[in-house]
Formats: sequence, C-alpha cells, structure tokens
Amino acid sequence: MGLTDKGLHPTIFDDYRIETVDAGWLQERVKPKRHIGLTAELCILCRACEDVCPWECIWMLAPNIVADAESDEVMTLANTASAVFVIDDNECTRCAICVERCPSDALWLGRTSA
Ligand code: SF4
Ligand code: SF4
Repeated sequence: MGLTDKGLHPTIFDDYRIETVDAGWLQERVKPKRHIGLTAELCILCRACEDVCPWECIWMLAPNIVADAESDEVMTLANTASAVFVIDDNECTRCAICVERCPSDALWLGRTSA
C-alpha cells in the first residue's frame, strides 16, 4: 500500500530548476525512445504517481515554481494551472509504473517522433 493510499503525501519540493528537454539529447540516450506524457484534463491531482515511482523522479509541484519561462504561452499556462509536473529525465527508466498506477489514465507512455 502506498503513502497516498493512507492519506499521506510526499514532500513538495520548491527548489527545482525547470528546463526544456533537448530533443536531440533525448534521442541520443540509450534508454528506449519513449517518454511519459500527461493528459492534464484527466489528472485528479492525487499524487499517486509521485508516491509509486521507484526512483522518486516524478513530482507534482506548485505552479509558482515557474518563475520565468522563455515563452509567454508557458507563463500563461503556469499562471492558470493547478500544478506543474516534472520528470527528471536523467533518472526516469520509462518503467511506466506511474502510468499503471494512475487511477484516471492521465499518464501514458509514448514514443518520441524522430
Ligand atoms: S516511468 Fe517509472 S521511473 Fe519514470 S517517472 Fe514513471 S514510475 Fe518513475
Ligand atoms: S497518478 Fe494520475 S491522476 Fe494522480 S496526480 Fe499522477 S497523473 Fe494525476
């Protein structure tokens, strides 16, 4: 049974630096050419994905974590979102346990296009 099943929640980090993942860099990695995607409209903000990740590399953060973004569109999204999801790509093994755990099918495993 995970922590969220007991009504407990992981610590919220607020000191993470958010950067755009370079697609070329991602393609060169030895990991499968896949990524974890989120359909935000389906997310119920339960944080079960954080709880279940064996590498503790997926976080649901407060929207004000985005202090400055390259694009106005991203800033607008951050200012109107309920949460910001971050996956540390250096740690994520694409095991998809978070995808299986998500109770609302908001998370999915997809392939990169190139
Ligand atoms: S795919 Fe696995 S390692 Fe990556 S965020 Fe999900 S649970 Fe964590
Ligand atoms: S497990 Fe699914 S519904 Fe829950 S916070 Fe994560 S993405 Fe959202």
